[in-house]
Amino acid sequence: MNNFLQTPIEYLKGVGPQKAEALKKELRIFNYQDLLEYFPFRYVDRSKFHKISELHLVDGFAQIKGRITRIFDSGMGRGKRLHATFQDDFGVVDLVWFKGADWIRSSLKINEEIIVFGKPTIFRGQWNIPHPEFVDPKKQLQIGFQPVYSSTEKLNRMGLNTKGLQKIILPLLNLMKGQIEEILPQNIVEENRLMTREEALYTIHIPKSELEARNARLRLKFEELFFLQMELLMRKKISMNKSSGFIFAKVGEAFNEFYDKHIPFELTGAQKRVLKEIRKDFTTGHHMNRLLQGDVGSGKTLVALLSMLLAIGNDFQAALIAPTEILATQHFESIKEMLSEMNVDVRLLTGSTKKKDRKILHEDLLNGEVNILVGTHALVEDVVKFKNLGLVVIDEQHRFGVAQRAKMRKKNTTPPHVLVMTATPIPRTLAMTFYGDLDVSVIDEMPPGRKPIVTLHKYESSRARLFGFMREQIDLGRQVYVVYPLIQESEKLDYNNLMEGFEAITRAFPRPKYHLSIVHGKMKPEDKEFEMNRFVKGETQIMVATTVIEVGVNVPNASLMVIESAERFGLSQLHQLRGRVGRGAEQSYCILMTGDKISKDSLKRMQTLVRTNDGFEISEVDLQLRGPGDIMGTQQSGLLDLKIANLAKDGGLVSLTRDVAKKLLTKDPKLELAENAGVRKVLIDILRNKPNWQEIA
Ligand code: ADP
Ligand code: MG
Repeated sequence: MNNFLQTPIEYLKGVGPQKAEALKKELRIFNYQDLLEYFPFRYVDRSKFHKISELHLVDGFAQIKGRITRIFDSGMGRGKRLHATFQDDFGVVDLVWFKGADWIRSSLKINEEIIVFGKPTIFRGQWNIPHPEFVDPKKQLQIGFQPVYSSTEKLNRMGLNTKGLQKIILPLLNLMKGQIEEILPQNIVEENRLMTREEALYTIHIPKSELEARNARLRLKFEELFFLQMELLMRKKISMNKSSGFIFAKVGEAFNEFYDKHIPFELTGAQKRVLKEIRKDFTTGHHMNRLLQGDVGSGKTLVALLSMLLAIGNDFQAALIAPTEILATQHFESIKEMLSEMNVDVRLLTGSTKKKDRKILHEDLLNGEVNILVGTHALVEDVVKFKNLGLVVIDEQHRFGVAQRAKMRKKNTTPPHVLVMTATPIPRTLAMTFYGDLDVSVIDEMPPGRKPIVTLHKYESSRARLFGFMREQIDLGRQVYVVYPLIQESEKLDYNNLMEGFEAITRAFPRPKYHLSIVHGKMKPEDKEFEMNRFVKGETQIMVATTVIEVGVNVPNASLMVIESAERFGLSQLHQLRGRVGRGAEQSYCILMTGDKISKDSLKRMQTLVRTNDGFEISEVDLQLRGPGDIMGTQQSGLLDLKIANLAKDGGLVSLTRDVAKKLLTKDPKLELAENAGVRKVLIDILRNKPNWQEIA
């Protein structure tokens, strides 16, 4: 690597041992490169002046030309303030000092044109600028466009605030001239009209205009995302080369018979497309690792079944794993039903499968009698062995650990193909990044004839009407969910709310006319199952629950979902919950109950759900509101250590750089061309230094 960039930070003029220590500790700046890559997080445009009448439009700092018309004091003792009334042709602001009043007072002149710079705020209905900076009009033009760096309290105390940081960066920018190698291939730089690396590293710290700053940022974001994509593509390639997979050469009889005679409905276009993608994977000789994303109710199960039939037609067995017993049972029953006319042996294995039955099952799996095994985690255990497992389908993967997936792969000498299904939509740019080494298929089309769920946001004050609406739905023969939040930190309070809610509903919906189920995490698993089953069978009309019902349950007769304290749920969770209804032919409703006062973000979440049923659109809003870290969970946050790019905001660049990276690798798969030497060097370094964060393969 370039020696200049690796120069320890203490070698820089103006950085003594003390400051160096602080920079290392507080900002993890160890060498020249770290400092150069400590980018400003924003700029203030000092070439512009603001009118006082337009201060409400200013984002952060303002620069105003005008004159002081009056100087006065207010307050006593520690509350003492120095004020100067400052005005331009358009309005008046109050300049205020809390400290150093005497010294400042002596430098203030009435009625002379001056320039002040500072952060305007409103206090008691009037604009004021605390501790403004006075700008010398002669120097003003040189100041131009100013970077703002984030700092810490400790650094501030050592004089390393924005200005202090600027002071040590400026000399480095002069030193660096001619020292920075280009790491992107020339043709990529040119085709995308990027600044050179040196130009960008220089310009980002002292741009002359907003446009220059933007171009510098663009180049550096491009570089960062490009190498991220290169890394992911290389990892994928490495794992592909490593693992060969079974070839399902033919479509097979099982598939054909089902498709011709028994399939209950015509596949949607999206289902067909995804099936083609899967079928193609089965013929490559490589191990398939595919993620299937599709909104709740988009028909993933049928795709899973058809894929399993492909395996069976090629003399392999298939397994389908679901996160809960109820879900596994539902899958089992619907698959059995769909295959009832066919000679396919489908079995179920869950925690409650009896020992005696288990023994028989184990044998039949080993001798190949069983074609499809549906089950829960019980299926993962080592005692469950197959004769020739060719495909594993995992439903609702976010409930499933990497370790368990790895275990399933070991159930045959060559790892069986893996199809992972999830209804938690992940924004495209995130999916590309996080599952960069998985292939992603998307079902983006709903089966025909679905009535979109009508979603309403209601405030606590209209609770009485809610019960009326519930009664209406139940009297029509439908069923209702009422869901309460349960969050660990406030567990006790949440249980109280749940119980109080349950009692209130019991009073409003008395026996014998109405029957209620309740399900929460503190119940024994058997009791939970029992209650759920009563609701599934229609013996109870109202299911009061915490989020344990979130995943997969299918009760087509349920037409109303009431979510209590909806402001406390995340967007994607709300969308998942809502997906429990709208599965039958009837019009379904989701009612989001919130407190009368909710935050702006909460309101945005409610409005988003009311506006759309599209899980992908919702996930995009979620990404904007929460950022990628929260969505993907902390375990993957290492991947999110991006210095300048933002996966939420730079979606276009993510796609662009992915295409550019793919093109480069197609042309030069081993990075042997001279033009790609820089890429090769950087990439080797990355692959060597980063831990293997996604060891799925
Ligand atoms: P999910 O993707 O949430 O797992 P399911 O596979 O449970 O969705 O499918 C939801 C419902 O849609 C099921 O009742 C299923 O039978 C039905 N379905 C699936 N595919 C189609 C289709 N092509 N046409 C009509 N209905 C379909
Ligand atoms: Mg499903």
